Amino acid sequence: MKKIQIILVTIFLSLLTTAIASMAYANPTLSVFDCGLLAFDDVSDFGITNNDTEVRELFVPCYLISHDDHLMVWDAGLPLSDVGRTDSNTRYRKSFIDQLAEMNIDTSEIDFVAFSHMHYDHVGSANAFSEATLLIQGTEAVAAFEHPEDNPVFRPELYADLLSSNRTTLNGDYDVFGDGSVRIISAPGHTPGHQALYLELENFGPLILSGDLYHFEVSRALRRTPVFNTDAEETLRSMDKVEALIRSTGATFWIEHSKELAESLNLAPAVYD
Ligand SMILES: [Zn+2]
Repeated sequence: MKKIQIILVTIFLSLLTTAIASMAYANPTLSVFDCGLLAFDDVSDFGITNNDTEVRELFVPCYLISHDDHLMVWDAGLPLSDVGRTDSNTRYRKSFIDQLAEMNIDTSEIDFVAFSHMHYDHVGSANAFSEATLLIQGTEAVAAFEHPEDNPVFRPELYADLLSSNRTTLNGDYDVFGDGSVRIISAPGHTPGHQALYLELENFGPLILSGDLYHFEVSRALRRTPVFNTDAEETLRSMDKVEALIRSTGATFWIEHSKELAESLNLAPAVYD
């Protein structure tokens, strides 16, 4: 073989090796964003008493997941109209969209968007992701799009633009990328189509994002359901299901609204991988 042919073959083989190696490491990465804070004088609506915990605040997160060339948003924080609020009930410093922009990510680049459920504190910037494919349980779509008036925690104007989005309607658990590394876990009860998210991170290990299966750390310890859940018994079954998944996988479990947890996390632009 001529010298030039040997060089070309060598380059080709090294490119092929790099491509195969990157395919083998398709593990997702995760960033957590501060998308607000809610404060309460009284936490009894969450099924706990004011003596059960001293915590009176709920952190409101947004999440960005990267998997190969794809980007996925999980939960979208408080309404954008709350950005700039710093009162005793609500704080939201910088919009999710501006925080993404600081990471050089435009909302049009998001391929998939999913919400643990459609309550207003999880879909605050949902309309910005109308170009993404919406992953939603069929039961949640019916509740949020067809009968939002039945649940005062739904604010349909916050996700109205998603009505015309590409949509994958789910009926149970769903493996988003087909390799088991990002899995939506059906966990109904808080709302009809409430869901959690299982992630397999290469270095961090398996991680489950709770959605609103629990709001406070003490809610999990005491196994309590908020009074505004659509189905308390169904919620308890979902708790059993997710707790079993935690045990069988050894996953770390993050209660999304936990203020104590949020204070221990590395927020975006930090990345968990
Ligand atoms: Zn919530």
